[in-house]
Amino acid sequence: MPALTGYNHAAARSGRRGPASRPWTGRQTGDFMPLCLRIALSALLMFVMAGASGYAQRPEPATPVRAHIAASQGAIVRELVGLLSIPNVAADRPNIARNVTGLVAMLERRGFAAAVLETGGNPLVWGELKTPGATRTLLFYAHYDGQPVDPKGWKQADPFTPILRNGRLEEGASEIPGLAALDRFEPGWRVYSRSASDDKSPIVALMAALDALRATGTAPTSNIRVVLDGEEEAGSPSMVPAIARYRERLSADLMLILDGPVHPSERPTLVYGARGIVDVELTVYGPKFGLHSGHYGNWVPNPA
Ligand SMILES: [Zn+2]
Repeated sequence: MPALTGYNHAAARSGRRGPASRPWTGRQTGDFMPLCLRIALSALLMFVMAGASGYAQRPEPATPVRAHIAASQGAIVRELVGLLSIPNVAADRPNIARNVTGLVAMLERRGFAAAVLETGGNPLVWGELKTPGATRTLLFYAHYDGQPVDPKGWKQADPFTPILRNGRLEEGASEIPGLAALDRFEPGWRVYSRSASDDKSPIVALMAALDALRATGTAPTSNIRVVLDGEEEAGSPSMVPAIARYRERLSADLMLILDGPVHPSERPTLVYGARGIVDVELTVYGPKFGLHSGHYGNWVPNPA
């Protein structure tokens, strides 16, 4: 099954984040979601819409879908804020269960047949939206868990109480109050919260894309399946057995991984092929500090 993704997120799992695993550094952290739903929606719509091809150059032409999205900004962001407000550290089972309940409801509101797929760890949230006459099935993957949180490291009271800033925090952006009541958002504004970008906004963007299609009378041409992982940031230990166990429900002609950053061009981006990751733990023994090779060379153990 081919897989499309924004970047190789598998290489950026919990505890292994670093520049080498993030080809587009600086554009995504687990902490903020640039208000780029416009971008994410465009990318999703490319796949879901009939006859769509290529991507839009800015300024984007007016279309019924874009008009619907523009008029729905408040509702879309409020749905995201609601999801972000549920803590989602993988080991926090009670709150993971609250996420699962919320996600099932989110899918069912869009007409998905939704199910909770139990695993040896946190459950997968699964949904299917069938399209009459469709011969192709798309499987969208995203994850609803987030990295562990140390609130002391945050510039806001609570990582699970989303706030809105008028730009990037590191560039001195200030908070815009009243997030929940706003209906218009400037493109540069950002929602800050754990998992705002990684990886809850893609879930909400997919739902919003489907809403936009429905509202404008554009029917998908494919069956749509969704699987939402609850342990990605913990290394997805339950995923491999779950794939075998739920093979029928997870089968598809194409898989899209919604778990990547915005490209620096801010254009919708699809990356073909997602590689995995191989871990190696290597223990070496040697001196605790630098030793002069002229004095110690050849007889002190040298791990190099
Ligand atoms: Zn992720």
